[in-house]
Amino acid sequence: MNVFVLNCGSSSLKFQIINTSVDMIKKNEDKMLCKGLVERIGGKAIVTIKANGKTVHKSEPVFDDHKAAIKYIIEWITSDDAKIPGVDGLESINAIGHRTVHGGEAFNSSMLITEEVMDTMEDCVELAPLHNPANIMGIRAAQEVFGDKVPNVGVFDTAFHATMPPENYNYAIPHRYYDEYKVRKYGFHGTSHRFVANRWRELTGKSIEETNVVTLHLGNGSSMCAIKEGKSFDTSMGFTPLEGMVMGTRCGDLDPSVVEFIMKKDKVDINGAMSVLNKESGVLGISGFTNDFRDLEGAMDENPKAALALKMFSQRIKKYIGAYMAELNGTQSLIFTGGIGENSSVMRNMILTGLEMCGIEFSKDLNNEIFAGKEGKISTDDSNVAVYVIPTNEELVIARDTCCIIEGVECI
Ligand code: ADP
Repeated sequence: MNVFVLNCGSSSLKFQIINTSVDMIKKNEDKMLCKGLVERIGGKAIVTIKANGKTVHKSEPVFDDHKAAIKYIIEWITSDDAKIPGVDGLESINAIGHRTVHGGEAFNSSMLITEEVMDTMEDCVELAPLHNPANIMGIRAAQEVFGDKVPNVGVFDTAFHATMPPENYNYAIPHRYYDEYKVRKYGFHGTSHRFVANRWRELTGKSIEETNVVTLHLGNGSSMCAIKEGKSFDTSMGFTPLEGMVMGTRCGDLDPSVVEFIMKKDKVDINGAMSVLNKESGVLGISGFTNDFRDLEGAMDENPKAALALKMFSQRIKKYIGAYMAELNGTQSLIFTGGIGENSSVMRNMILTGLEMCGIEFSKDLNNEIFAGKEGKISTDDSNVAVYVIPTNEELVIARDTCCIIEGVECI
């Protein structure tokens, strides 16, 4: 079947069409037919569509909303101009898989979208005010464009972390905040942590029970996950994606008293202070000029603030590696993924240097060879902990879950 994978942000959307089936999933033979991006929805937008590694369409139409954007994409993709192999007409899209950010406590797996599921997603809006409204809008838009014969499936970023035990997901604040309002650690990037752990299993031939690994999804937003017997046991993002690592523009772990202090000193309200912590902090806030790691690495030799930002980023990660190895009573593997984890040998080098006491030894040569979508092991043969770089593919997980749910088989 062809699954239209949709990831809606507030003013943008990304999509892929992936041809898959239960058999193809088992043989790792699913195929991406095309992918694209629409930026600046709500005005003059930019549409880019790629197939077979080449840009096949670029335009700047005006879109009032996501529905207009999805309609435009579908009309173009199924038009005679497109000639994308495997995609002929609207009927060649069999299902839609949505990236959905926050499922609260209600969803511990991907779900066929029903009105009941939509109501629960609406209830989760206050937990993810930046993300869930865009996801809901995307589902409604897809339902209108494709009609009710094409099923929609929601794949939640939080679902993989539903297995965390209470001692890891509770905050040490009065328990009534959990009882009444569900204030707790939810964790995000679950689709990515799950994908790379599954791929590691394929590469090593280990069983689910033997999967005790630490996954590092390092991108603009970064999170780590301690995976025990194949299940999320602890993760660094929390009630929102603000907790944990030093990120591109987010502060990560912080003494909450700093919030009050910023409000007093800057004479801003809580929204102003939260905006500082979400949008002006992280490596951008420290370096003062960028959140792009390529620029930071290029500047680190002459710019002390760029060097400090990178050092703080790597130091926080070392701290979590130690913490998660203690929680898991050791780990078989560290797995790097995400834009930085997959591409930056400089950052991997900074993180892994000096972890010999944790049984982690890596080869600088192997590390330098892995970037741009390559997969492989970068630890030495005598390292107690194997270190892997595994490119993530969240869209593939969404397509596969969508296929499995529609076929009525357990998600693979
Ligand atoms: P997002 O969280 O937006 O999905 P990505 O996982 O795409 O983020 O990662 C984006 C980050 O990856 C950016 O900070 C970018 O600088 C970094 N990155 C991409 N390529 C490289 C590279 N070759 N070297 C260092 N950093 C890179």
